[in-house]
Amino acid sequence: MEKILDKKQIDGWVAALTDWEVHGPALEEGIWTYQPANGTVRLDHPNTKQSPKEFAFPQREIFFSFEQIKGEAPRLTQIMPKEQRHAVFGVRPCDGRGVPRMDKVFNDHVEDKYYTSRRKNIAYVGLACNKPPSPNCFCLSVGGSPVSTDGLDVQMTDLGDRYFVKAITETGKAMMVAGGKIFADPSAADQKQVKQTHADAVAYPQRKINDPDGVPAKLKASFNSPLWEEMARACIGCGICTFLCPTCHCFDINDEVHNKAPLSGQRVRTWDNCQFPDFTMHSSGHNPRENTGARLRQRVNHKFQYFHENFGMHQCTGCGRCVSECPVGIDIVTVVNKVTEHAG
Ligand code: SF4
Ligand code: SF4
Repeated sequence: MEKILDKKQIDGWVAALTDWEVHGPALEEGIWTYQPANGTVRLDHPNTKQSPKEFAFPQREIFFSFEQIKGEAPRLTQIMPKEQRHAVFGVRPCDGRGVPRMDKVFNDHVEDKYYTSRRKNIAYVGLACNKPPSPNCFCLSVGGSPVSTDGLDVQMTDLGDRYFVKAITETGKAMMVAGGKIFADPSAADQKQVKQTHADAVAYPQRKINDPDGVPAKLKASFNSPLWEEMARACIGCGICTFLCPTCHCFDINDEVHNKAPLSGQRVRTWDNCQFPDFTMHSSGHNPRENTGARLRQRVNHKFQYFHENFGMHQCTGCGRCVSECPVGIDIVTVVNKVTEHAG
């Protein structure tokens, strides 16, 4: 299904999505984040600072609560996510491509029911990039495209005073049907314009990873390269790169004790981070990734080698956030190009 939506009608579409809690990009104190729509969505954002991964994989979630009363059997109460549908507007193509990658992690050999119960209730309404929203975009180098529809339910393309709106999944189609007469049929001129807009977007210059297909093997050959330590020297282990990444997914699980007698509390999952020095720290005090070089190598190899070996695709979607936001300028494109250039 392909339709035209006048930009003035976007509030009408949001209002028609009565079964959905709608979210969209919002600018707060200079930072673009996803916020509840409150009747409208803005789609003039470059990209959001944080990726939309937290709709399906929140930074903190409770698995169950527990209570142990003396002389009684322990009581566990599972806490599943609420059955609420969420429509996330303004998802850029790189972040859309993050969705099937997260699905692989949380629902491939083993189903993570907390993830899948959220995920099945989320629709991603994408916005094609007419040109790269950041100078650090490199989606074309990792098999993506500024007009990719991977992971999306609907793709919107900005045509100036209107959007070209295309349903990608049955869910997306149902969302467009809900809009009814708000949408118009595209004319031949609209079809021509969207085709040209997409072609121009793909032709727009971006940053590049050299020889992306050769990267997994070259990284494997470079495991012991001294370059890792050299390039990671400035890293302060803040973890910004992975927290903002649409496909980083490491987590920790802890029991939070609220009362000691009688014992009660909650089992909680929180994001963890391979760039933290204690991420791999053993209780013996030994740390197999004891320096920043080993930790940078892990992050890069996971994105471009290990995930590729497991699933046949780069895990990185080229959003450029880790490059733009690293406070000390560690740049994954430069790192990959430099290490692979020197591969033995
Ligand atoms: S590794 Fe960096 S560029 Fe790649 S998807 Fe993650 S944040 Fe984006
Ligand atoms: S954002 Fe930069 S400094 Fe912070 S952990 Fe990542 S690479 Fe290190």
